Amino acid sequence: MTYEILMRADGVRAIKCLRCNAVSHNPNDVKELYCGNCHGFHEPRQYVGGVDEGERQVLLLALAELALSRPGWDTMLREIAEKFGGVPLFESFKRTSADRVKAERAPL
Ligand SMILES: [Zn+2]
Repeated sequence: MTYEILMRADGVRAIKCLRCNAVSHNPNDVKELYCGNCHGFHEPRQYVGGVDEGERQVLLLALAELALSRPGWDTMLREIAEKFGGVPLFESFKRTSADRVKAERAPL
């Protein structure tokens, strides 16, 4: 853990960087777990609903497989992938799974 989330008495949250001890009350820094002093994100970065990095990759793989099975959903699924900062990974999973999904869906 390289950061601490602090809560002021008035309910305003802050993020304290444990690398450089900088404290930021900027709501975006708190939300994105970013340190403006180090110019970097804290790891593990938390995504939508507290999803961690391993779970994020599983979700992106699931989205990619669904996009291959249902091409009409591709745009919507890509927008979800974008919320996880994972469009490149989503596209890469689609490429690596394309042949297998095609084979599974081929008529017998
Ligand atoms: Zn810092």
